[in-house]
Formats: sequence, C-alpha cells, structure tokens
Amino acid sequence: MARHEGSCHCGRIAFEVEADFQDAITCNCSMCRRAGTILAFVPRAAMTLKTPADDVAVYRFGSRTIAHVFCPTCGIKPFGEGVAPDGTEMAAINLRCVPDVDLDALNITAHDGASA
Ligand SMILES: [Zn+2]
Repeated sequence: MARHEGSCHCGRIAFEVEADFQDAITCNCSMCRRAGTILAFVPRAAMTLKTPADDVAVYRFGSRTIAHVFCPTCGIKPFGEGVAPDGTEMAAINLRCVPDVDLDALNITAHDGASA
C-alpha cells in the first residue's frame, strides 16, 4: 500500500497514512457541507500522527461519537476519528489535506448524512 503524507495548512498537525485511495465520500451533514471535506475511511492503525497529540483540537457535536480534529492555529480539519460498528477504531482522512492524492481521479460518492 502507498504511504501518503498529510497535514493541516500551517503544519501544526501532520500525519502519515498507508492506504490506496480510490474511493471517497462527500457528505451533506451540517458539519461536512460547511467544511467541504472529501473523506476516505481507514483503520486508525493505518494513520500515524507525526506532530504532538496535544496540538490537535477536537470538536464533537450531535451524538458526539466522532472526534472532528482541527488545527487550533489554521483551523483546517485534516481528519476525524471514530469507532466502526464492529468496534474497529477508524480515521476519516480529509483527502483535501493529502497533497499527493489526485482528487479528480477519486471515485466520490455523495453521502446523505443530513438525513441519517
Ligand atoms: Zn494548522
């Protein structure tokens, strides 16, 4: 699998992720429609945070089950964290924060999170 580097805009949050990104989602929920994220889900274990864990800010809303991670300096949202129904810890990578991913080559599905 390919190794990708991702970060927020200012670099305070940086990470590596091992994945072959082909599929991703956009979402129309109250958070995603504002943030404009393009998300791909990977096991949390496939992602390594390279910057101090204390440097991330976390926003939770609604059921509060998803940690929406953002940078307290530049405000960008590089990833989220949550637990899949089977108990697997997952990360939702914002592929807009992974510069070597060709966003136009992704198979993007529009997820109707607003109705979920
Ligand atoms: Zn930043």
